[in-house]
Amino acid sequence: MRPHTLAQAAALTVALLLSATAQAQNSAGFKPNAADPLDPRVAPMLADVSAARIAQHIRTLAAFGTRHTASDTKSDTRGIGAARRWIERQLKDCSARTGGRLQVTMEAFIEPAGRRLSQPTELVNVVATLPGASAGTPRERVLVVSGHYDSRNTDVMDAKGEAPGANDDASGTAAVMEMACAMARQNFDATLVFMAVPGEEQGLLGAQEWARRARARNLNVEGMITNDIIGSSHGDGGQHDPKRLRLFADGFDPVLRQLVNTGSNRPPSDDEVNTNAAIRSQLQPLAVAGGGDDLPTQQFGRHLKAQGERYLPGFSVDLIERRDRYLRGGDHLPFLERGYAAVRISEPFEDFRHQHQDLRTEGGVVYGDLPEFVDFGYVADVARVNLVGLATLAWAPSPVKDARIDARELTNDTTLQWTASADPQLAGYRVVWRRSGIQQWEGAKDVGMVTRVTLPLSKDNLIFGIQALSKAGHASLASYPLPLSR
Ligand SMILES: [Zn+2]
Repeated sequence: MRPHTLAQAAALTVALLLSATAQAQNSAGFKPNAADPLDPRVAPMLADVSAARIAQHIRTLAAFGTRHTASDTKSDTRGIGAARRWIERQLKDCSARTGGRLQVTMEAFIEPAGRRLSQPTELVNVVATLPGASAGTPRERVLVVSGHYDSRNTDVMDAKGEAPGANDDASGTAAVMEMACAMARQNFDATLVFMAVPGEEQGLLGAQEWARRARARNLNVEGMITNDIIGSSHGDGGQHDPKRLRLFADGFDPVLRQLVNTGSNRPPSDDEVNTNAAIRSQLQPLAVAGGGDDLPTQQFGRHLKAQGERYLPGFSVDLIERRDRYLRGGDHLPFLERGYAAVRISEPFEDFRHQHQDLRTEGGVVYGDLPEFVDFGYVADVARVNLVGLATLAWAPSPVKDARIDARELTNDTTLQWTASADPQLAGYRVVWRRSGIQQWEGAKDVGMVTRVTLPLSKDNLIFGIQALSKAGHASLASYPLPLSR
């Protein structure tokens, strides 16, 4: 289906879903995702995402010849300097067209020489921030979405040779630029950060710098998505599915993983101190209490799959509980390693003839990451899946705090409690549940403005979550209840 059709289909489905609501609530297989009405503010944003503009942007990025992190920064037509200044200009133009609330900044830093950088190099994260209603308050919520604008060919140290990087990762960069423009007119509760980062191919350097700064000041990043290689629905074995993407959402088991080892020769940084504190206070208690499938990253993955599939009927989000593909990594990892919920979105299959390859033809096969192998309509659809996941969460309240399951008595039912939220847009709470081994929530009950509830469902048989609901009906990420025990 072409993008316009898909966006229209999303709008048309509103009526169908509304009529299905009553039916769904009466049946035992009540699905929480299908039961809520779609937010009418989403369809116009989806329609704003343009495959034609994404095509233009990917072609322009590829035409800089190479965007290798150590490539030329002075030229206006070739190299990473020209590319980042072009991205900045596009985002600033977009901000000017959409009311000026999108703040575009160039966040430069010097990366020392390392395994994949032969000398100290200035890297620049291009960041567009849309402040939410929670900005500047102690509860400020932040959602980050990124693509990497650097590129490479066969030799990761080759800063001069051609490296068009159309799929890896002009596709992700163009998608993020498009999301920023499409969302910039809306008012959200969470602050949205749209990032184009360099240094991914040299060791996730741009994302790492941003994540390090965020953790050093304990920024409340509620979720982070990297879009990396989202340009094609074809695999090199002839596979094809233009209505599917992969969402890598790993739980980051903090019990099995070492805390950051700061060594004994230097004082630990604020980043390291705060990372260890976040893992100890927020993640380890969940994992110890059997919530290893219910860490924030998995709750975020559940949310993105549910909302993506709800607003884009016919599109499948494959939620895969692993960090990334084998032998590969991405810009979500520096966030994940700091205890933040962070996921990677990628195309459903891969064609390795067009990744990290010198441009050449061998035995009739064309190698290289060229725009002619990118499906721009597909990139637009992946951008739309991102957009609905970010928008619906950015409108939601903060997650519920101090969620507990009362495990002090032998009973056949479930009593849950939590701390009242002071979130100004809070309209009530929802309990969600699923059977063990099932990825998505299977049942839901809205329980109103209470902080303790008993449901006639066995706490021994189901896995529960508690969500806060906004006045417009948007649900926060689910909080896993820790046991209250004798
Ligand atoms: Zn990449």
